[in-house]
Amino acid sequence: MSPAGRAGPYPTYGSTGPAGPTTGFVEVADRVFVARYKQWDVNVGLVLGRDGAVVIDTRASDVQGSQVLDDVRRLARDIEVRHVVNTHVHFDHTFGNAAFDTATVHAHDNVGRTLEADAERIKGLFRADPGDGPELGYTARDAADVLATAVRGPDRTFCSHATIDLGDRVVTMAYAGRGHTDGDVAVHVPDTDALFLGDLIEESAHPSFGIDSWPLEWADTRASHLVEASDRSVVVPGHGRPVDGRFVARQRDDIAAVAAVIRERRLGGGSLEDALHEPDPRLPYPLDHLGSAIRRGWEQFSPPTP
Ligand SMILES: [Zn+2]
Repeated sequence: MSPAGRAGPYPTYGSTGPAGPTTGFVEVADRVFVARYKQWDVNVGLVLGRDGAVVIDTRASDVQGSQVLDDVRRLARDIEVRHVVNTHVHFDHTFGNAAFDTATVHAHDNVGRTLEADAERIKGLFRADPGDGPELGYTARDAADVLATAVRGPDRTFCSHATIDLGDRVVTMAYAGRGHTDGDVAVHVPDTDALFLGDLIEESAHPSFGIDSWPLEWADTRASHLVEASDRSVVVPGHGRPVDGRFVARQRDDIAAVAAVIRERRLGGGSLEDALHEPDPRLPYPLDHLGSAIRRGWEQFSPPTP
């Protein structure tokens, strides 16, 4: 997500769980919890094990990260958060990291490489527009908290796979290619079939194609992660209600349709301007949601030389 906004109407097919923000964590699988917060409608995951807890994403500021920690402690005072995983680089998933000062923060290599610059980019947007964002659930105070946050990056990064051992269970992290960003990871709890996909999937908004997205590769990346999911999987998106495998497959097809139209227009020799403004019935999202997708896809696709 970016502070720029989101488009509706939102799909609900295959969604489960409460339709709006929750108060604290809700258990979605055995000792696997999700809290859905009003600001940017972002999800935070929590996995409990014998040797401590893993928190998945940390919200958008120091203040919000501390609120997550309070919500963890409300479940049980003695839970020690020993690990944090950032599903990707964006501020609404990473700026709360510093609140977890006893935890090791894990993320993909590319998050370690890009977090500082992305944080400055986002802070620049908030400096330029420091007001509230009612459609995204944040106040001017929340925006000020974002700006006041000293961003903490990952302590441990990985290229393809990594595992966290919680004593009686493991949590796995996997990278399968570029999509929403160049550093999206899936977090899997294999003994429960719970799968956190960050913003590779969104339930309460269309998938977010930002200026750092990879629209032509996203569908394949998501298909790779689906291999880890079964019919019984609980798939937690970055924003919105948990969904099932059918929802993930359907949104993958929608993203593949966007990529197919971009490729076809690029191959057909048309102009970028035309692609940005000509409606196409095969596009599953409104054109005004796809500006960055089309621009990025245009740059990223090299038509074969004759
Ligand atoms: Zn994002």
